[in-house]
Amino acid sequence: MAIRSMHDLLLEELRDLYSAERLAVRAYPRIRKAIQTDALRQAVEEHLEQTKEQIERLNRVFESVDAKSRAKTCHAMEGLIEEAQEHLEADLEPELLEVILVADLQKMEHYEIASYGSAKAHAEALGLTEAAELLEETLEEEKQTDARLNQLAIDEINPQALEQAEEEAGEEGEEEAEPQARRQRSSRRTSARAR
Ligand code: FE
Ligand code: FE
Ligand code: FE
Repeated sequence: MAIRSMHDLLLEELRDLYSAERLAVRAYPRIRKAIQTDALRQAVEEHLEQTKEQIERLNRVFESVDAKSRAKTCHAMEGLIEEAQEHLEADLEPELLEVILVADLQKMEHYEIASYGSAKAHAEALGLTEAAELLEETLEEEKQTDARLNQLAIDEINPQALEQAEEEAGEEGEEEAEPQARRQRSSRRTSARAR
């Protein structure tokens, strides 16, 4: 589609977002499967459901500007998901994998925040109030998701990986302490899951 007006440009952005959200819906289950920490798995699950609603909301945005819902492949989201996929296949310690997956998930949110922010501003500039309001709703959800992931990384995911690394260093240092360290580690995993 030739982009000749601000309105064409908004449609281009909406099609890109439509693709990005659909790519995310397909990627989240793969990412979720690799996560052992309850709170993080929960966050991914909830955002997966939210993302399905965001696709419905985009349908309403298209409707509000009298356009058909259409996707145009978002290469940025494709690339971000590809990087996450590489990490899933990299044979990392589970604790370290979760650290990098949170970063990958946050990059996906940041891309969406930038895209929804621009699309909303362009809808506003065009006086398309309903579209702008709908885009703002999703923008807020993406920001909240990013903040939640950030907090999880700080409170749980990063410390967990550091502790794990320390334990491993300890095990290498004193062979006799190994069985105990193993027990502690597995009991901590269980309690992390039970939370
Ligand atoms: Fe989204
Ligand atoms: Fe894109
Ligand atoms: Fe999102």
